[in-house]
Amino acid sequence: MRCSALLLLLAAACGSAPEATPPPPPVVPADASPSPPPTTREQLAARLVALALEGRAHDILSSLVAAAPKRLSGSPGAADAVAWAERTMREIGLQSVTLQKVMVPHWVRGDTERLSVLDPARPYDVPVCALGGSVGTPPEGITAEVVMVRSFEELRALGAAARGKIVLFNRPMNRALHNTFRAYGEAVPQRTAGAVEAAKVGAIAALVRSMTTRIDDVPHAGAMSYEEGTPRIPAAAVSTRGADAIAAKIASGAKVRVRLRLSCETLPDVESANVIGEIPGRTVPDEVVVIGGHLDAWDQGEGAHDDGAGCAHGLEAARLILAAGLQPRRTIRVVLFMNEENGLRGATAYAAEHVGRQVAALESDAGGHEPRGFSTSATGARLGRLRDLLAPLQSFGMGTLTQGHGGADIGPLGGQGTELFGLSVSTHRYFDYHHSANDVLAAVNERELAMGAAALAYLAAVLADLDAPES
Ligand SMILES: [Zn+2]
Repeated sequence: MRCSALLLLLAAACGSAPEATPPPPPVVPADASPSPPPTTREQLAARLVALALEGRAHDILSSLVAAAPKRLSGSPGAADAVAWAERTMREIGLQSVTLQKVMVPHWVRGDTERLSVLDPARPYDVPVCALGGSVGTPPEGITAEVVMVRSFEELRALGAAARGKIVLFNRPMNRALHNTFRAYGEAVPQRTAGAVEAAKVGAIAALVRSMTTRIDDVPHAGAMSYEEGTPRIPAAAVSTRGADAIAAKIASGAKVRVRLRLSCETLPDVESANVIGEIPGRTVPDEVVVIGGHLDAWDQGEGAHDDGAGCAHGLEAARLILAAGLQPRRTIRVVLFMNEENGLRGATAYAAEHVGRQVAALESDAGGHEPRGFSTSATGARLGRLRDLLAPLQSFGMGTLTQGHGGADIGPLGGQGTELFGLSVSTHRYFDYHHSANDVLAAVNERELAMGAAALAYLAAVLADLDAPES
């Protein structure tokens, strides 16, 4: 039975007229009254975890992907995401909610992206998607033979043999590496710089094996760039199964000819915004602990893991701090950055306008999987002290602290002396979804997502009080 029919029946039974469909419930239930604050860090961790597991992280994420399922920078969906973030911050009870205006790139995919393998016996299409920032092809497409390489060195060794061809960069992510972000880091220059390198040897288009360890038919998007003085050639990602099929044919000694059609283009920049809200500090409000994620997302799926999870993490972490009755000494500021995926304009603008007040910045941009702990820019004796502070998270499997990357959006703050922390999560499944149509709400586990918010809330609360005056 359809819901509207059910409502009519219920209304008839009650003798009242049916009402319009009610708006979705606020992300903060009315009964979220604070309890007495915990007195030890162990109690704090346990309280935050318990609150998170009965909390709202998944509701917040659901609300975001419902309000703005497509939110690539410059798109109408990105504007919807900004409005959603402002509204949600107010619902949660954050103060000083502001939009920091920023101009962002506006690249559009268009409605044509097609790679046809011109097999004389049986022509067929391979799943592709344009890489972000790519120029399009002429309407009739670009038709040429494919040459395949696994590295830029191999490409340069081909030299003149690549002239007038379409280059397929087909080095897979290294499956032997435990941390898939390391495998991604090793393989992704093919995507970001492949078009430039291919153009330098006279190629006329670039195809890149999708950045995933999964073998399937789903292409994965992502940013690429051009450089001054090198021809701008179209670039697209090919599904892993499609890349394997082309590679097998080339390995058999056959010449593979393809036709690539892309209708993507770059339009003039658009005004957008970072969305910022705070829990004001009780004793040193001018000192700030930032919790960040990014609002924009690639346009293939819903950006549920990347970085809807990070947005839900930051907002829910702030809500948990309030729900636990904490009154942090320093200000805790949630920053939902715009344009992480293809420009970092939001991160750059934030760091430029908020100089010198951030003592620490935490970022979640590795998806909503089960948290393990944090990576940090801290070194030496400070690392040891931070590990002690995180010890209460160990019984929940999320107390590790490693020296390393904080995050792309908080990165510019590192140069100002801000201590950086990136939420570390299990990475095995992240690249199954990353930048693809697979990245949808159903791919996010409610409890794993909630635990990430608890980890961020704990660390933010501890750092907001650490060595700060009590009154
Ligand atoms: Zn991201």
